[in-house]
Amino acid sequence: MTYRSDIEIARAAIPLPIGQIGTRLGIDPDDLIPYGRDKAKISRSFIDTLSGRPDGKLVLVTAISPTPAGEGKTTTTVGLGDGLNAIGRRAAICIREASLGPCFGSKGGAAGGGMAQVIPMEDMNLHFTGDFHAITSAHNLLSAMIDNHVYWGNRLDIDLRRTTWRRAMDMNDRALRQVTAGLGGVPNGFPAQTGFDITVASEVMACLCLADSLGDLRQRLGRIIVGYSRDRRAITAADLKASGAMTVLLRDAMQPNLVQTIEHSPAFVHGGPFANIAHGCNSVIATRTALKLADYVVTEAGFGADLGAEKFMDIKCRKAGLAPSCIVLVATIRALKMGGGVSRSELGREDAAAVQRGCANLVRHVENLRAFGPPVIVAINHFAGDTDAEIAVVQDEAAALECEAILCRHWAEGSAGIADLARRVVALSEGDPPALRLLYPDDLPLAAKIETIATQVYRAGEVTFAPGLREQLARWEEAGFGHLPICMAKTQYSFSTDPDLRGAPQGHTVPVREVRLAAGAGFVVAICGDIMTMPGLPRIPAAETIGLDAAGRIEGLF
Ligand code: ADP
Ligand code: MG
Repeated sequence: MTYRSDIEIARAAIPLPIGQIGTRLGIDPDDLIPYGRDKAKISRSFIDTLSGRPDGKLVLVTAISPTPAGEGKTTTTVGLGDGLNAIGRRAAICIREASLGPCFGSKGGAAGGGMAQVIPMEDMNLHFTGDFHAITSAHNLLSAMIDNHVYWGNRLDIDLRRTTWRRAMDMNDRALRQVTAGLGGVPNGFPAQTGFDITVASEVMACLCLADSLGDLRQRLGRIIVGYSRDRRAITAADLKASGAMTVLLRDAMQPNLVQTIEHSPAFVHGGPFANIAHGCNSVIATRTALKLADYVVTEAGFGADLGAEKFMDIKCRKAGLAPSCIVLVATIRALKMGGGVSRSELGREDAAAVQRGCANLVRHVENLRAFGPPVIVAINHFAGDTDAEIAVVQDEAAALECEAILCRHWAEGSAGIADLARRVVALSEGDPPALRLLYPDDLPLAAKIETIATQVYRAGEVTFAPGLREQLARWEEAGFGHLPICMAKTQYSFSTDPDLRGAPQGHTVPVREVRLAAGAGFVVAICGDIMTMPGLPRIPAAETIGLDAAGRIEGLF
């Protein structure tokens, strides 16, 4: 059987005018700001009228530890939204916007796949409504204002050797990781080392995604620490009087984008922070708006559940007062097989024993997720070639935990293939959501928060801090940042910090190498391993095969 590519399926779908999608959610056409025919932003004034309304149910989609075989979180998020609508519930989807870096780098879009996609996928994967460009501009305005401040006399006594704020660009370009700026003599300012991070890694992105209003956004931007003075005072964007103009650049970008799935379910696609040095989920404002307008909101957290779901709970839900009614843990037979030691080239061969070994990882994630309170259900994202025996292994493993594992065929069949999961999600979401049990209280010391995550979620035996880090954390506590949650940055491929250690390792050591204060976003990043904030392109980038056909349509975008 041959399958159509994601872009072929997406292009064959006929979108409804975006006004009709808005009407389904009860949004008056006047409250939508159209960006062409099939995209719109939801107006701020309308969002302001929603605060008194009750919230729908929030369903979190997360996954087992990722493998190169792919799990399909976005595909399942989209499919479940369609599935809930198909069984007569009013559902919306909340996912992240796409970055141009991975789009032209390695194959893999951000709009889902197969029959479970958000359209127009070309727009979503390219410039979309310009939000990322606005974020890039706001970021670089601040960069320019730092150097300009120094150039015109440096009243704040900024130490150019201690400037931590870099530049941003939404492209994978390893050559820009480290650069020297200000060369060329007196009229060009003072030479200083800097570099570029990809836009999704910008703290401006994290601020936008966690802010609940433009006022809050401005406050957050103002708190961003850009570097230090020669006497080690933190210099903020507010000190440079930059936050007002940055907020102006972000005014439109703060309004959530509304698009639709192939089956015309409403999809809020807004924000896209990195899942390592940031929290990896769509914006708070989009999620909150969706919850006011739909009875069920299905949303995705990046990476495996140890990183994505933990940050979703302990950063996003904690700060925004959200709580999921149900958690869907996505697994694929292929990924479980890889986790069980099968190489990528051998994935086509039936191997129930390998699936069984791989299930150790799934079981660990189920146990971890249950600790947060909401009920957990496993979605087996079906790939052609999965066998009944392999599927039975996963269902038996889940049953042993008194957890259901539902086979889902949304990629091939759309909503019809995921109706069972949709019905179970509705059943599990009945009644008031169980109280969310966050992993740690706000007032726990920062180092102890890191230790709590590492020992309880990663099951580490020990956490080590590089020299000086404990003292650094203690200084931040003294400076009033002790209440912030932790944003862990570690490999997504393992519970440990060793990407090759699959399954369910325990007793390992988690080494914290570096800590960063994201005072604007409102978290402390704990870096355990090498974290790339400006990716490179692969040997054969997807860009080589992307182009326009004779009719002017985009080809090669997955
Ligand atoms: P994630 O959100 O976990 O990164 P995606 O949902 O974006 O994963 O899916 C990654 C890729 O895998 C997409 O190109 C999608 O088309 C493909 N994919 C997902 N599910 C299936 C499936 N059941 N069968 C075949 N391909 C799939
Ligand atoms: Mg995804």
